[in-house]
Amino acid sequence: SKSAYKTERDPNFKELSEQDLAFFKSVLPPSSIVQDEDNLSNYNIDWLKRYQGHSKLVLKPSTTEQVSKLLKYCSDNRIAVVPQGGNTGVVGGGTPVFDEVIISTSNMNNIRSFDAISGSLVCDAGCILENLDNFLAENGHIMPLDLGAKGRQVCQIGGNVSTNAGGLRYLRYGSLHGNVLGLEVVLPDGTILNNMSTLRKDNTGYDLKQLFIGAEGTLGIVTGVSIASPKRPKAVNLALLGVDSFDQVIATFKRSKDELCEIVSAFEFWDQASINLVQKHLAVGSNIPLQSSHQFYVLVETSGSNKEHDDEKLGQLLEGLITDGIIQDGVLAQDTTQIRNLWAIREGIPEACSKAGAVYMYDISMPVSVLYKLVEDLKTRFQEKGVFGEGKLIKSVTGFGHMGDGNLHLNVEADAFTPEATGLIEPFIYEWTAENSGSISAEHGLGRMKNQYLHYTKAPEMIDLMRRLKVVFDPKGIMNPYKFFPSS
Ligand code: FAD
Repeated sequence: SKSAYKTERDPNFKELSEQDLAFFKSVLPPSSIVQDEDNLSNYNIDWLKRYQGHSKLVLKPSTTEQVSKLLKYCSDNRIAVVPQGGNTGVVGGGTPVFDEVIISTSNMNNIRSFDAISGSLVCDAGCILENLDNFLAENGHIMPLDLGAKGRQVCQIGGNVSTNAGGLRYLRYGSLHGNVLGLEVVLPDGTILNNMSTLRKDNTGYDLKQLFIGAEGTLGIVTGVSIASPKRPKAVNLALLGVDSFDQVIATFKRSKDELCEIVSAFEFWDQASINLVQKHLAVGSNIPLQSSHQFYVLVETSGSNKEHDDEKLGQLLEGLITDGIIQDGVLAQDTTQIRNLWAIREGIPEACSKAGAVYMYDISMPVSVLYKLVEDLKTRFQEKGVFGEGKLIKSVTGFGHMGDGNLHLNVEADAFTPEATGLIEPFIYEWTAENSGSISAEHGLGRMKNQYLHYTKAPEMIDLMRRLKVVFDPKGIMNPYKFFPSS
């Protein structure tokens, strides 16, 4: 394992026996049970190929009742379980560490209902995010979240909820903590918690669903999701800007908010090193419609209902930014194809990183004023140690992210995932984040990558209360062990 810390299999967890398999076969048809090495391998390794598990069994229930039977059995027999959605997570949360049984929600993919008046969508947890968005588009609505992990990669709404995924529409629609209206969850003992409310308001007691949002499969398995979907904006505009310093990126952000006000729906940035990676590894990299290269690139998106009004506002903003020398270049997408192409450049960055080899991905939130300073400080650190550049231990450092949410994605391309490379980056990066009042995980979660570092963002009393809550939901500790909490 290339995990950040060494851990041993908990001997209290039962090893699978023929009897266990016989039970699973009594609940699921043969086609929903994966046991052969070839097929298992895809479930045992994460998208970044950093965390290798050793599960011998994947179960793919198609109903909530099946999930309930499986979990109850695992709980009664103390069999460790890893819930898995689309397996696009980037912190090693969705893959096993040892021989945990994987319960995949891939066969749970029905849309249960859609209310065109309120916009509430009720569906199974295994529905693919992109399919849900396409379904809503036909009905004039939009999913309140959008990630680069759609399309060829197939993140599922249950995985999105379990990681409290942020993504590209966060600035406009906010967090899943606000957009999820209800959840159906199976607890480890098989209890089905049916809270599939479609109400926007409900102040009756503790809002239990919130605990499962971002719980990374440590409390139970999410089987159903009810989510508020806004109306799909009628007019969408996108501009790509070339900017020569990060201070100017900040100035552009401020001006965009001031002038575009209610219609600004996304503000993303990336640096020159990010575009270098995209150009090296992906075809979309040759599609950058700016005249020269820049230190930074910005995408400003507007979403509204009156195209003429939005065009005018965005046009004026660009003109002003160029006249005042805040941006050096800018282009307005002319049609939906160009909008798609520009987004493809931005969304291509994580994919390009994955093709680059051993890429350590960090995901940090902090005050916007210092958002890029970590990238610079890290580069300086590597330079001073003489480990930075082609042919060296660390090949590149790239920064991009959701500027509007104060969220930096920082990627370090190393020769290989080695303790030496890890030691150059961690805990430096986490110490830096704590000193700057940031969070070590803005949106990816803790999983196996950051569980040991939780204390950089959360106080001991909070970690202690989290542990006590975990025992209430999962007294036998079978749900997604070895992750999320620091090993003590
Ligand atoms: P998985 O990877 O399968 O699982 C993630 C975690 O949730 C695991 O801990 C797993 O045990 C748990 N889990 C999954 N399903 C369930 C369930 N039904 N019940 C209980 N627990 C469950 N993330 C962002 O937030 N913003 C981004 O912009 C973003 N961009 C990305 C771009 C790319 C190219 C890629 C590959 C990833 C990106 N991610 C991003 C990370 C990832 O896509 C998200 O974390 C996503 O929400 C994970 O969904 P999934 O279905 O793949 O879940």
